[in-house]
Amino acid sequence: MKIPYGRQSISESDIEAVVEVLKSDFLTQGPAVTCFEEEFARVVGSKYAVAFCNATAALHTGFKVLNRDISKKVLVTPITFAASSNCVLYEKGQVEFVDIDPKNFNIDLNLVEEKLKANPDAFQGIIPVDFAGLPVDTGKLREIANRYNLWIMEDACHAIGGGFYNSKNEFIKCGSGIYSDLTVFSFHPVKHIATGEGGMVTTNDEKMYKHLLKLRSHGIERDQNLFEAPSHGGWYHEMQELGFNYRMSDINAALGLSQLKKLGANIERRLEVANLYKKAFKNSAIGFQDYNENKFVNGYHLFVIQTDHRKELYDYLKSQEIYSQVHYLPVHKHPYYQNNGFKEVKLLNAENFYNKALSIPMFHGIKNNEIEFVLKTIHEFKK
Ligand SMILES: *Cc1c(COP(=O)(O)O)cnc(C)c1O
Repeated sequence: MKIPYGRQSISESDIEAVVEVLKSDFLTQGPAVTCFEEEFARVVGSKYAVAFCNATAALHTGFKVLNRDISKKVLVTPITFAASSNCVLYEKGQVEFVDIDPKNFNIDLNLVEEKLKANPDAFQGIIPVDFAGLPVDTGKLREIANRYNLWIMEDACHAIGGGFYNSKNEFIKCGSGIYSDLTVFSFHPVKHIATGEGGMVTTNDEKMYKHLLKLRSHGIERDQNLFEAPSHGGWYHEMQELGFNYRMSDINAALGLSQLKKLGANIERRLEVANLYKKAFKNSAIGFQDYNENKFVNGYHLFVIQTDHRKELYDYLKSQEIYSQVHYLPVHKHPYYQNNGFKEVKLLNAENFYNKALSIPMFHGIKNNEIEFVLKTIHEFKK
């Protein structure tokens, strides 16, 4: 029984949806992308959604739209996939990492505030990451950000379907844009919704929405009301700034739209799996993400445990064909970052977290007997 840490589920209806596109007139960006965007915005509760070829392209374009002053830094958590901060470096911007909260593994908002207090004019924005699926309290973060005039681009690649209750007891869905200026999602197959490759940005700001659309396709404007030069005729369109080809294809979008229908059941199953794990590890030497369950709904992209015997457990699980993974090596510890100015950075909570971290199998298609086997194997290892 081979069990990976994460895996997509593709149904017959997903396959049919893709086949239908293959028989249609559009293969690249077409009507399926628009449908996927509209349905995605409806599901997360935002005004706008813009699909991208992957979440890294979405983060890059998001940063281009938000960037106010490239000399000002951007705050990022070190416990994330490198793309969360790479998007700033693509534009020659500067990143400053803020240590994590050792209990919930997300960026520590108190440390964020301390940094801003010490240097009120040094920063332009923050990229919080909803690690493993646990939303950052963006309500609290918005208050801090407003005091220091920062934008918020939430990296919710782990947290579709997640959310939290704010101080007025309203439920804030990840992606609704109530507090974040932009929110980014990924549809890489290990994430909740698979499109092969794919990403999405949601926002409630019309100006940023239109800017995202333009940059996604080379910076080209097709609306004659917005031309800078006089139109030469019906064929005319013009490139107004340096954009990209970061478009999603209709093939991917049709798969995403079909997968999105199963999101509710998918999250429910992940919560069930998490509860089985938590019950098994409660009062044991194995730690896990600790947060107020009455306030936060965790989307559970990952289930990360903390153990003093990480390497031995990883190897033992592997010998039993259970393929765990480690999320993440702190971003500043990657050789590229070490060689580009981050050698002196010390973030003890993030480094301690990494030394003990292991992601055990978490996906909506996992069967109960597979979970039992994972738990039994961990139990055997402890003996
Ligand atoms: C997966 C992921 C990304 C990048 O997603 P791609 O779609 O693979 O580009 C960015 N940030 C986080 C936190 C992720 O988990």
